[in-house]
Amino acid sequence: MELNAFLLPTTLATFSLAFAIVWRYGSKPALWWMIAYAAQCAAYLGEIVPTVFHRTIDTMLVDAVFVLGFVGFGQATALFFRWPRRPWLNLGLAAAICALDAWQIFAVDSLKGEILTVDWGLALLALVPFLANLRAAPATPVDRAMVAASVLTVLNCTVISSMFALFGAADASFDTYMSSGYVAWSYTVSTFLNVLVPLVQLTAVALRAIADHRDASEIDLLTGLLNRRGFERACARPGQPQRGFALACDIDHFKAVNDGFGHAVGDGVLVALAGAVRASLPEGAFAARFGGEEFVVFLPGADVDAAVFHANAMLSAFTAEVARALPIPHPVTASLGIAAVGALRSTVHADLQRADRALYAAKQAGRDRISVDSGAQGVEAARAAGERPALRIVA
Ligand code: GH3
Ligand code: MG
Ligand code: MG
Repeated sequence: MELNAFLLPTTLATFSLAFAIVWRYGSKPALWWMIAYAAQCAAYLGEIVPTVFHRTIDTMLVDAVFVLGFVGFGQATALFFRWPRRPWLNLGLAAAICALDAWQIFAVDSLKGEILTVDWGLALLALVPFLANLRAAPATPVDRAMVAASVLTVLNCTVISSMFALFGAADASFDTYMSSGYVAWSYTVSTFLNVLVPLVQLTAVALRAIADHRDASEIDLLTGLLNRRGFERACARPGQPQRGFALACDIDHFKAVNDGFGHAVGDGVLVALAGAVRASLPEGAFAARFGGEEFVVFLPGADVDAAVFHANAMLSAFTAEVARALPIPHPVTASLGIAAVGALRSTVHADLQRADRALYAAKQAGRDRISVDSGAQGVEAARAAGERPALRIVA
């Protein structure tokens, strides 16, 4: 037995272990890649150990392990792309491939039939997730690399075995086939691809995990809105419109809500405000919970009229939602400051400060109202358009 023959099973076992570790860190597709590579490892080992039962039975078992491994690949691919897993379709296909394989081995006694059945069957199993989701175009470079890895896997399954079926000696026995150039080539290509493909998959799940953690670190747990870090990142997004209006919003007498009705009800009020903010966000706008009960909204490209209209709608929806959903007998209101944003990336902090000052003025003026920073153009028109009586211009 050649020592080189252990190279591929060793590589596969190593990758199976690597995916096991990634799975323990929470990646679901990694579990299926772990199983798939362990199965491939077992199947290749099965090919090189001496016959245990009978050549035909051994072959059948090895083929079945290969097939089950590819069911694992299909499950991993579907999970990675967040598609339905369709386990029964895959297991049904696997059973059909094994049955056809057994028929070729025991009834037809055709080596070429056996090899074509298994290798094209494996290719089909690798393709099923893509065939079932033909309209889902790969969105990112990582997705495209994953598709390319699957295409290479399919080619690896089909090209060399088809060449043997077309050009191999018609009376080739199993032993002459196993020592033929076809198998030597297939083994070499498989060894190469079984490094390249799992490395692509490992990189893809690692990048996905990093992106998921980053997204989670930018979301406020209670409300699901962005937090301050998420807001900063959204400001710096490529192509993000730079001009617009910033809204700073703060719940009125919130401490009294907490003191009078408990912290859980207070949390409910925060969730209600977040819901009102989210529901009223126009296309391209984004909002964040900056701290305890302070919320910030950026409205890109809006004029002051639109900003005031938006703020009014948001505050009314908030008060209505609290009245509808929470056991607080009096209306809960919020105050809001509006300031123009000149350049989101460079001046946002100064502009937010002005929105905050406007908010403070709204509080001073008696709460439950909107103030517009005097730097915002068209403020007079906005005053005329304001539904809330005490729309106040801050000096
Ligand atoms: P004002 O009208 O002047 O804004 O008065 P206020 O009582 O709303 O303002 P203040 O800043 O004094 O109180 C804010 C309160 O927000 C204090 C704190 O207990 C509460 N708070 C901060 N974060 C949370 C939270 O996550 N959940 C709850 N339930 N309360 C919070
Ligand atoms: Mg408050
Ligand atoms: Mg406050």
